[in-house]
Amino acid sequence: MEFLPLFHNLRGSRVLVVGGGEIALRKSRLLADAGALLRVVAPQVEDQLRELVQGSGGEVIVRGYQEADLDGCTLIIAATDDESLNAQVSSDAKRRCVPVNVVDAPALCSVIFPAIVDRSPLVIAVSSGGDAPVLARLIRAKLETWIPSTYGQLAGLAARFRAQVKGLYPDVQQRRAFWEEVFQGPIADRQLAGQGDEAERLLIEKVNGAPPYAPGEVYLVGAGPGDPDLLTFRALRLMQQADVVLYDRLVAPAILELCRRDAERVYVGKRRADHAVPQDQINQQLVDLAKQGKRVLRLKGGDPFIFGRGGEEIEELAAHGIPFQVVPGITAASGCAAYAGIPLTHRDYAQSVRFITGHLKDGTSDLPWRDLVGPSQTLVFYMGLIGLPIICEQLIKHGRSADTPAALIQQGTTSNQRVFTGTLADLPRMVAEHEVHAPTLVIVGEVVVLREKLKWFEGAQSQV
Ligand code: SAH
Repeated sequence: MEFLPLFHNLRGSRVLVVGGGEIALRKSRLLADAGALLRVVAPQVEDQLRELVQGSGGEVIVRGYQEADLDGCTLIIAATDDESLNAQVSSDAKRRCVPVNVVDAPALCSVIFPAIVDRSPLVIAVSSGGDAPVLARLIRAKLETWIPSTYGQLAGLAARFRAQVKGLYPDVQQRRAFWEEVFQGPIADRQLAGQGDEAERLLIEKVNGAPPYAPGEVYLVGAGPGDPDLLTFRALRLMQQADVVLYDRLVAPAILELCRRDAERVYVGKRRADHAVPQDQINQQLVDLAKQGKRVLRLKGGDPFIFGRGGEEIEELAAHGIPFQVVPGITAASGCAAYAGIPLTHRDYAQSVRFITGHLKDGTSDLPWRDLVGPSQTLVFYMGLIGLPIICEQLIKHGRSADTPAALIQQGTTSNQRVFTGTLADLPRMVAEHEVHAPTLVIVGEVVVLREKLKWFEGAQSQV
């Protein structure tokens, strides 16, 4: 191991930063965050750096570096673009046995800055010993996505009970078991979901000896339109901790793959007989599984609250007192539009956009056709394939021009995405000609011409 990671308590300690530019500013910000008293020395000091130093109780010395600047300092940073000056600062510091960091010159350093994930009081440091700082930063970025920002609050909760738990369990093994249960069970779940008061209540119960009663929980999670890259961090985290997953037809296999390996998977889309599991049975299943203490993931295509019947499911959960979380997802309209190069609104073409169900209950009468025909609005039809001939006919009949640009996007955002553009009058013919099938989104409006204008082509997203 080239460098030993240690965490340095700098609160109230004097730290010398030699340099007055952008790099010195970056390092100074970190040091100020850690409570250091800065001494910045440079012939020229940028305004932002000056403000930072003065605002955090430090001092700015506007002149060239002198060895005496090291006096009283517990850490030295050389952040100038003058290599010989950096080397000078390094050797002065080393002679005095004071730790020194020279930015971008590992050979001159006795200490180096790691890439940091800050979930204070939880802090993770990653270092490549200066050999591959970009790699260390990439690993940090991965950790950032895995470790939700609320982890800091979880550590804070533990800190508040630490002494009490130590008093309760003098034996270190017992203490470890206690905290493992806290960090892997319902208490952590609540805290990470932002329900700090409930987490604290459960922890108090646990400290008082009662096994905390917690039924399972249901996570109603939007899986987005297909591309796994469009999942949210929170969705991914819950997918990896759920015990059982209920998913339907719209959830892409690549997304299902990201669920915890040993989680039980229950398909509630179309069954063999081609009938979807009735909604009330799904609701009941969610309630039953949660009552068994399971963490249940209800994974839905797109966003659970947009034509996803998510509202009905949580109503049932609420009626049974089952805790739940709802995680929004990218809805098909946003995903498909972005991946097909069709901005849903545009100053020159559309001032509003409507998401409409194309699932017509009683033929022609149940959509407010008159409201849908204004020229500067974009219409997005979900589930619109079967009713498409009626939709097109009614829109034209109520006054939307037959030439209005329109698009069909099949399996948007996936590697099988297909996009066809034409006019409103043309749509039914296009469906037949290209054998378009579900899931397909229909976009009607002048914004569709932007796809041509932007010279969009399939795969444009993956090339970005
Ligand atoms: N809750 C989902 C919508 C469910 S309704 C969401 O927010 O996206 C189902 C309809 O959504 C499908 O009939 C289709 O019109 C549309 N849809 C969902 N995913 C799609 C995709 N990847 N490509 C095209 N249309 C999609």
